[in-house]
Amino acid sequence: MTADSAELLALRRVMRKNYFVCAALFLVGVSLHWMELGVFVPKLALLNVAWSVSFVVLGLAEGAGWLPSKWLGTLGVLICLAAVTAYLHFTGGPSSAYFPMLWTLPLFVAMYSPDSWGPTVLAGAMTVGAVLVLDLLAGLPPRVMLVQGWGIGLIGLLAVFGARTYRRMRDAEKSAQQERLVALEQLAESERRRLRAERERAEVERLVLVGQLASGVAHEVNNPLAFVKSNLGFLEQELRREEGPEDRAELCEVIAETRQGVLRIQQIVADLRRFSREETRDEAGKPEDAMHEAKRLASVRLHSLGEVSLDVTSGLPPVRLGQRQLVQVLVNLLLNAADAVETAVPARRAHIVMRARGVDGGLRIEVEDNGSGIPPEVLPRLFEPFFTTKPPGKGTGLGLALCLEYVSRAGGTLHAENRSEGGARFVLRLPVEAPARAELNPPLQARR
Ligand code: ADP
Repeated sequence: MTADSAELLALRRVMRKNYFVCAALFLVGVSLHWMELGVFVPKLALLNVAWSVSFVVLGLAEGAGWLPSKWLGTLGVLICLAAVTAYLHFTGGPSSAYFPMLWTLPLFVAMYSPDSWGPTVLAGAMTVGAVLVLDLLAGLPPRVMLVQGWGIGLIGLLAVFGARTYRRMRDAEKSAQQERLVALEQLAESERRRLRAERERAEVERLVLVGQLASGVAHEVNNPLAFVKSNLGFLEQELRREEGPEDRAELCEVIAETRQGVLRIQQIVADLRRFSREETRDEAGKPEDAMHEAKRLASVRLHSLGEVSLDVTSGLPPVRLGQRQLVQVLVNLLLNAADAVETAVPARRAHIVMRARGVDGGLRIEVEDNGSGIPPEVLPRLFEPFFTTKPPGKGTGLGLALCLEYVSRAGGTLHAENRSEGGARFVLRLPVEAPARAELNPPLQARR
């Protein structure tokens, strides 16, 4: 069923009910003459019944869609006019107590068909005609007829004007509603575009990190590959000896070492694959796992520069930042630390520490290095998008801006400082996930 036909059916239902209610009221109208005249007049009662029945038929016709609503409405007006005129004729013509009923007819029509002024004008004209007929039959002077005609004309005009006002108000409301819908749709579209752009930017930055790691991967994979290869050569040689391997314990050692090398390669490839894969869902960040993963990922670059040590309180609860985003933030900080140590003068071995503690109902993670430190003029601009001190092709200036965005969105903070011993320290504060919050820090719950 189309929206149009559903709307038409709903309208028909309303109109049908309307005809039935009118029919019931016309029946109740039998009591009117009874009250006024003090006697029951079968002729008048019959008129009411006929009037009522004709409206029931109109209601049925409306519900079944036998005739367009417009025609049924006009038919209804004609029936009302005929019934009222006959009623008046039987009860004293222009001097009948029911005479004002005629005057209300145009208003009645305007009320039921506000969308078109035709039926109201027609009802007004026909009412004037009916009054004239009654007046003529009663032999009233033309002056009275003129005044009555004029009065009904005025009521008709009033009804037409009222219907027009109603129509205009409804059209204005409709177009305002339409404008609101269009504005809402535009808002939703721009929000969708913003989210898409944000996702793409995050994706690009992550791939930039993968690119930075990739150069180290070759070296990191080559190392274990080299000894896996030489170990396999040695094993083959030993197994080919006619008298069998000389030292079985040594063989087992070589196999264990080879397995270690293969596992290391597998780990590097798996980490890098997981990190570079596009995913929309991100589970709550587990600080300890994230730190280990970030260290493993960054080690392909940091391995040759120095060491990264971890200082983590075990059993830290999950944080509100997603796991992948947390890993991305930490890898970013570690690679920046690597750059800072690499460019430091005099040259030194990197010593980078990643520390995590639960503090004040949240989590504090620090990444500190023994690099060049942050120059005072650079410090206020660190988190600005596209701010970089690195040569073109090495830095995008987006890493820290994106880290700050992720962290702030999770309700955390990120700031940088210089260490008194030299080098820089980045401090990350993150709120923990709500359910674990109570376990980690009961006093905070009490304070709430
Ligand atoms: P990019 O690394 O691409 O330059 P970032 O937003 O990650 O972009 O970093 C912005 C700038 O902050 C870097 O160019 C560098 O000057 C400075 N910076 C970041 N981390 C450190 C650090 N550990 N030590 C010194 N300076 C740093």
